[in-house]
Amino acid sequence: MIQLSDVAKRFALKGRSQDALAGVSLGIARGEIFGVIGPSGSGKSTLIRLINRLETPTRGTVEIDGADIGKLSQAQLSVLRHKLGMIFQSFGLLSSKTARQNVLFALQLAKKTITADDQRRVDDLLARVGLSEHADKYPAQLSGGQKQRVAIARALANAPDILLCDEATSALDPESTQGVLTLLAELNRDLGLTIVVVTHEMDVVRQICDRVAVLDAGRIAEVGSVAQVLFDPQSEAARALGRHLLPHAPVVAGATDTRLRLTYFGDVVTGDALSAATQGVNVRFSILAGQVSELKTGPYGHLIVDISGSDRERVIERLAASGVRVEALS
Ligand code: ADP
Ligand code: MG
Repeated sequence: MIQLSDVAKRFALKGRSQDALAGVSLGIARGEIFGVIGPSGSGKSTLIRLINRLETPTRGTVEIDGADIGKLSQAQLSVLRHKLGMIFQSFGLLSSKTARQNVLFALQLAKKTITADDQRRVDDLLARVGLSEHADKYPAQLSGGQKQRVAIARALANAPDILLCDEATSALDPESTQGVLTLLAELNRDLGLTIVVVTHEMDVVRQICDRVAVLDAGRIAEVGSVAQVLFDPQSEAARALGRHLLPHAPVVAGATDTRLRLTYFGDVVTGDALSAATQGVNVRFSILAGQVSELKTGPYGHLIVDISGSDRERVIERLAASGVRVEALS
């Protein structure tokens, strides 16, 4: 649905130039929640702004539904803008308008006359984002999470096919973040909305995305399913972003050359695999830390264990054979 081909963006600033993106190729399918993750300054906002043509690429093309958006007329561009909704970290609501008026405003910008149907649509949208009771409040009377819900309702006012989210939860507390992420997942499921989620937090990607691209200094370090990128990262950039989701082993005295991290996904239950693998062989093991998390596609977990004894290698082979990923920790 969205295809970027060798897209580069160079900014000139005070006589110096800066490559925000240096040749990015990427395809996003209809109906998926696609994550773009990277540290600050890696080009995420630039990428999303190129998709809705708030920026024009220095090189390369952006296609939406097969049309090169660089070749659109002014009229076609305004049609494109209706296909795309966008939300930001800072909400961007008008403080002089109520929640309802903010959503209605998006319709007023798009059409000349507002009908009773439009008014109903606004109320339906506010209900969908869970704000019916707050429709007549001004942004200053709403929490951060509620403001972002108003912004989502506004972004959906013109029935877009694609929702672009630039750090949409970065200003929110954990509970509001959870609420907004759940809402985005529902909109994806119920409306078939394609969602592009730009974030610097792997935990956001973990919870709602199908696939993710890892951006590093304007280039794609890797792209894959969330499970692949979290589980089996191929790039240092992905490893660094996923690291804080891993449990940390407590610092304990003694040798650490026996320490392993066991990672499992889906049906494999590490506890069972560990008991089975250590059955009837000469090893000693202790579990130092463990954690189970949920991906969109199912649970995954980690255990950190110390395993020693003459049959250690055999146990490692058994674990690997049962589908557990085994890594030595030092
Ligand atoms: P991110 O969203 O990942 O933090 P950005 O896309 O905002 O990254 O920025 C990528 C790089 O491009 C940064 O080094 C930033 O300073 C630069 N940049 C972004 N927008 C502009 C601009 N309008 N003018 C000059 N430099 C910019
Ligand atoms: Mg940004």
